[in-house]
Amino acid sequence: MMSKMKAILLSIGDELILGQTVDTNAAWLSQRCAALGVKVIEHATIGDDLNLIAATLRRVGGNCDVILASGGLGPTDDDLTRHALAEVLGVELEFNKSAMSRIQAFYDLLKRPMPEANHIQAMIPVGCEVMENTCGTAPGISARIGRAQAFFMPGVPREMFVMFTKCIEQRLQNAGGNVLVTRVLHTCGAGESNIAEMLGDMMVRGRNPLVNSTAQQGLVSLRINAQAPTELAAREMIAPVETALRNRLGKLVFGADEETLSSVVVERLMEMKASLATAESCTGGWIARELTDIAGVSAVYLGGWVVYNNQAKVRDLNVDATVLNQEGAVSEPVARQLAENACKRAGADYAIGVTGIAGPTGGTTQKPVGTVYIAIAGGGSTQVERFIFPGDRDGVRRRTVNYALNLLRLRLIE
Ligand code: ATP
Ligand code: MG
Repeated sequence: MMSKMKAILLSIGDELILGQTVDTNAAWLSQRCAALGVKVIEHATIGDDLNLIAATLRRVGGNCDVILASGGLGPTDDDLTRHALAEVLGVELEFNKSAMSRIQAFYDLLKRPMPEANHIQAMIPVGCEVMENTCGTAPGISARIGRAQAFFMPGVPREMFVMFTKCIEQRLQNAGGNVLVTRVLHTCGAGESNIAEMLGDMMVRGRNPLVNSTAQQGLVSLRINAQAPTELAAREMIAPVETALRNRLGKLVFGADEETLSSVVVERLMEMKASLATAESCTGGWIARELTDIAGVSAVYLGGWVVYNNQAKVRDLNVDATVLNQEGAVSEPVARQLAENACKRAGADYAIGVTGIAGPTGGTTQKPVGTVYIAIAGGGSTQVERFIFPGDRDGVRRRTVNYALNLLRLRLIE
């Protein structure tokens, strides 16, 4: 096997150095390189400074096989990438007629006159290759620097994605290294350390496939990373590991890859031809928002109520005022009534009711900040669970959304 292709990623722009823009291009390119079997050995970030860009290009040109650069190809005075490249190559910039006519065509399509400043984008260092930009103005440029083939792309993430996919990716295939394929399993209901305990020897470092985990707001995701000469071979290595993980974790696993709690809940409701309503207090409509992220959800989601204060709970969902006063808005019977009355009023098969103290104020010793009641009504019974969630206001609310959808999911697969 030929030795593995090495790449250095270069992100160019003052806004990156200042921390005003987060460098998502490098993260995206690194993942694509891993999938292609290209080994990324460095991320370099530099400001809009001609000498620094030139010096960096000279340095990295001797250290790798591929340079993937983004940014600084724009029409403004601070966009200096083309000038730095010309300097490194010891050539002049020359006017490229076909690049110019594509930039002109871009403006014609928008029915706008082309600003004078955009002429500079048709100036390409002599001897370089032009890469077409199909969703913006700045053409890309490719050149040999030292032992590396360098690709310069626009900074705008979407323009960069498209250019990489259309003009560069194919040239990096057969990079000599193993490709990396990742399968992600999502769980809800157990903490990261619990899961690590359940998996024990399955998460040992240095294995191939390697299993690792990430956690956020009550969800733990397990990534199965396999390296193999081909994608097919990697997928074949992943399959038995996925089966073993699913067997160990059982109902904790709710989905894989792009699936979300709301997408799997909605899918299950569709299979069952069952309908759903929501009654939310502390989450202020967030559960409804998650559900309506899914296209076509109107087939099963009827709608819901945001009953934030006590008055609204009584007026809109007929919550018993005496119970509210005696037990408090954050209580088992109020959560139960929210879910049951929402179910009735909406004429739904199932309903979610949530009420809680998201903080930072409003906690007591009896009911500290993070106390949340979640009720699931439907199918002939109502289940109410009490939780004390950690975290700030945002964290408590997110966990409430996740646990509510998860409780419903578990009810629907019973
Ligand atoms: P254009 O002609 O489209 O302006 P450009 O190459 O000059 O191309 P920049 O001006 O450097 O691009 O950046 C354009 C936009 O893309 C800016 O909003 C910038 O914040 C964003 N951007 C640039 N580099 C990155 C990056 N590495 N990650 C995320 N966003 C980026
Ligand atoms: Mg810039």
